[in-house]
Order: sequence, then C-alpha cells, then structure tokens
Amino acid sequence: MSRVLVIGCGGVASVAIQKCCQADEVFTELCIASRTKEKCDALAEKLRGKTKTVLTTAKVDADDVDQLIELINDYKPDLVMNIALPYQDLTIMDACLACGVNYMDTANYEPEDTDDPQWRAIYEKRCKEEGFSAYFDYSWQWAYRKKFEDAGLTALLGCGFDPGVTQAYCAHALKHEFDQIDTIDILDCNGGDHGYAFATNFNPEINLREVSAPGSYWENGHWVEIPPMAIKREYKFDQVGDKDMYLLHHEEIESLAKTIPGVKRIRFFMTFGQSYLDHMRCLEDVGMLSTTPIQYNGQEIVPIQFLKALLPDPASLGPRTKGKTNIGCIFTGVKDGKEKTYYIYNVCDHQECYHEVGSQAISYTTGVPAMCGALMMLTGKWIRPGVYTVEEFDPDPFLEALDKYGLPRSESHDPKLVD
Ligand code: NDP
Repeated sequence: MSRVLVIGCGGVASVAIQKCCQADEVFTELCIASRTKEKCDALAEKLRGKTKTVLTTAKVDADDVDQLIELINDYKPDLVMNIALPYQDLTIMDACLACGVNYMDTANYEPEDTDDPQWRAIYEKRCKEEGFSAYFDYSWQWAYRKKFEDAGLTALLGCGFDPGVTQAYCAHALKHEFDQIDTIDILDCNGGDHGYAFATNFNPEINLREVSAPGSYWENGHWVEIPPMAIKREYKFDQVGDKDMYLLHHEEIESLAKTIPGVKRIRFFMTFGQSYLDHMRCLEDVGMLSTTPIQYNGQEIVPIQFLKALLPDPASLGPRTKGKTNIGCIFTGVKDGKEKTYYIYNVCDHQECYHEVGSQAISYTTGVPAMCGALMMLTGKWIRPGVYTVEEFDPDPFLEALDKYGLPRSESHDPKLVD
C-alpha cells in the first residue's frame, strides 16, 4: 500500500507510470502532476480499467517550491518521483524536505539558465577545482545530504539506465564478480533507426547540451577532459552489430569514482550515426544550441528551446523506431588473486517497447529503472536517511526487479575490451 506523486508526464514519466500500474499491489495510489495537466489526464484515461492503481492528476509548476509544497501536503505521498527535468531537482528536493517525504529522480541537477551569474561563479570554481566543465554535477544535490539525514528522509539520485542501472551493474560486479575493480567502460549503444535525418531520443535540450559538451573520463585519481567527440572507437554490440561510439562526460562517472574503491579508470561511450553528428555540428555552428536568450521581432527567444519546438517530440518516435539498444558495463580487475574481465548489459527492442507501452526504448530503458527504484524505496529495501546514488544500495533486489519488469541482464565473462 503506497501513495506516490510523479512529477512530469513526458516520454520517461509515461513509461514509469505505466510500469508502476503493472505493480499495482505496491503502487496502490498514484498522482500524475505536471505543467501541462492535459497530458496527465490523457495518460490516466489510457490506463483506466487496466490497473488497480487509483490514479489522479494535478497541475503543478515544479519551478515553484510553494506550489509543490501545497500539492505534496494535499496529496500526502510516501514518495515523490521527479521525472520532470533536471532543472527542477532542487525545488522538488526542497519541497520534499519541507513536507517530510522521500525523493527520487533520474538525472542530476543542472540550471536552465547557464548565464545566471550566481550559478556561474560556483560553476567556474568547480571547473577549476575538479577539472571537468559539464554544466551538471552532483555537488548541488550532495549538498543536501545532512538535511535529508537530519530529516530521516531518503533521496535517491539518478535512477534511470545511465545513470542508474549502470551503477547497479557496478555494485553487482563489486559484490559478486571482483575483489578489486580496475577499469570500468560504460557503453551506451542505440542501434535504433527512426527514419528522420535528425531527432533526439529524449528531451532535446538536455540531450544536445550533454552531447555537444567536452568529453571527460576519470583516470588515476583525476579528470581528463578532451574536446567534444575527440575519442572515437568501434565496437561490435551483441544483437546490434558494429557501431561507432564516442567518449562523453557522464554523470555516473563522478559518483563511481568515489564509491568504487581503488578504481583506476572510468570511461563512458555513446554511439552516434554520422547524420546525427553532422546535424548537431551545423546547429551548434549557427548558434541553435545556445541557451542565451536573443531578441527576435520584439520577442525573447532561447535558441535551443526554439529548436526543441521544431524537432520531433521524442514521445512521437515510438511507432517509427526499429532496432535495439544495448547498454552495459565492461570491467577489468582481480578476483581471488587472478585478473579477470566481465561484461553485464541489457538489450532492449524499440518495437517491443512500443507494443507494450507506446514508447521507444530510450524512454523505456529510463522509465523502467525509475519504477524499479521507487519499488525498492516503497518496499523498504533502499531506505536510509541521506542522499544516495544507485550503487550505494544493494543491487540484488533491483536487478531482480529489472529482470522481471522488462530489462533483463545479459553477461559475458570473456568480452572484447575497448582499447
Ligand atoms: P520530456 O521533455 O519528455 O518530459 C519532461 C516532463 O516534465 C514534461 O511532462 C514537462 O511538462 C514536465 N515539466 C517540465 N518542466 C516542468 C515544470 N517546471 N513543472 C512541471 N512539469 C514540468 O523529458 P523526458 O521524459 O525525455 O526526460 C525526463 C527526465 O529523464 C529528464 O530529467 C532527463 O534528463 C531524464 N533522463 C534520464 C536518463 C537516464 O538514463 N538516467 C535517460 C533519458 C532521460 P510539459 O509537458 O508541459 O513540457
């Protein structure tokens, strides 16, 4: 028996909500709240009669802490699932603290306005001290640790696939496969084709910011930063085939560098096709990826937000996308005094996801872990006062839930390594 408040009703949230409704013995009551209430109503209507979960909807601007507090006090949930955008992480954490409710999300905080001088001063200091320049990092949310501890509340950060499942794979490798992990390569392959020359698989603004930023990896106790797309490798992915992949900065590297003892190197690679890269480079060159507002015909326009309005809605890619994703981690290290390698990954089929929940696999591979993370919290398995990332909890029940709810793991004890 539990009451859950989900904030956001986009591509990822709609999958997470449908999966919560499949586990209606745990998710007995659920409120879908977002900026555009019509989307919440449409999803609740689609689910009516298919689940025992009692669904309600609400309108909320999650940038406004007072509105959030009013909604949370009114609904009185056991858990708030933040599946809106990373911009809202801090306001929703503040509201959860004010109301005494547990919190979870799928991506770490970044500001909507990267020109905000107050944020920029802290950001520039962090770039110098830490050595990576991504707009997002954990420091903002880790700063809430003491507040959540003192309040006896749990905050679970970044419980999608990557971040999220990839960290559970690391915890699993450490618990069951290795005495010492030396290197981790996280490989995110999307072998899907939606037939458009250019579209993003999740929120375009967040996606394009991430991909157009400098790459970085963790090596021998510090960050190494490189120009965007400067390191390219080819890899043959199970059930997908040969793909080009590029080294990116990714948020879970930051937490894994702290939580996996003695790890020497952590890298993250994502596959991209040539058409995607050509379009992105061109859009960047003409200024369309900028978050700085410009004046046009007497109106203020943020270029990347205007671009988002032109691009296909990621939620609409479901029926068109064919092929599979393959996301996982390759480890090297030592067990019982012997060197060994290990690969754990999930393969997910875009069309199978579409037939089950009406979404493509990127939303599915994020929404299912969000639901499974919530399941861990609501059943008391992942409840500990403080602010935590996924690898800090026991991976076993989480990976079992993923196996059951649509993202089963595959393994290899003799994988090809990435050079
Ligand atoms: P979408 O843009 O599809 O959906 C975002 C939702 O949040 C929309 O319903 C939107 O409302 C709502 N929203 C935005 N701003 C507000 C606000 N101020 N108040 C209330 N609601 C708001 O995004 P996705 O579903 O693609 O992504 C959701 C999250 O998942 C993001 O944080 C993203 O970074 C993360 N993600 C994580 C991954 C992982 O593996 N960990 C992978 C992919 C995504 P409206 O309909 O009005 O626009």
